Amino acid sequence: MIERCAEYLRRLEERLEEGMVTEVDAFVARCGCVGVVFMLRGVRLDDVTDGVIAVVQRAAREVGADPDIMYARVVPGTDLVIDLGARTLCETCEREFSGEEPRPDLRVLRGGR
Ligand SMILES: [Zn+2]
Repeated sequence: MIERCAEYLRRLEERLEEGMVTEVDAFVARCGCVGVVFMLRGVRLDDVTDGVIAVVQRAAREVGADPDIMYARVVPGTDLVIDLGARTLCETCEREFSGEEPRPDLRVLRGGR
């Protein structure tokens, strides 16, 4: 799995016009969410193209998650992306990621129920 994550790190960097990928993590959260997250540096929301989102989605499937949503976490009040994630949501996080209780640092890129 480490090799696959390394491969997706390279693939995502190839897709990004600006910035770099510093780390790729596959995760299982205590709440029940599972997925992958790509840590970024120097990337803005405008740089997150459909091609970039597709790489994140494929990486999540590769590690065994069937993601509900793809999202970006930004520095609040800016378009600077901290990380890009794809996750299969637990019920609690489904509310955080939906319009009911939106978090200011989250931008849903694709999906959501
Ligand atoms: Zn969760």
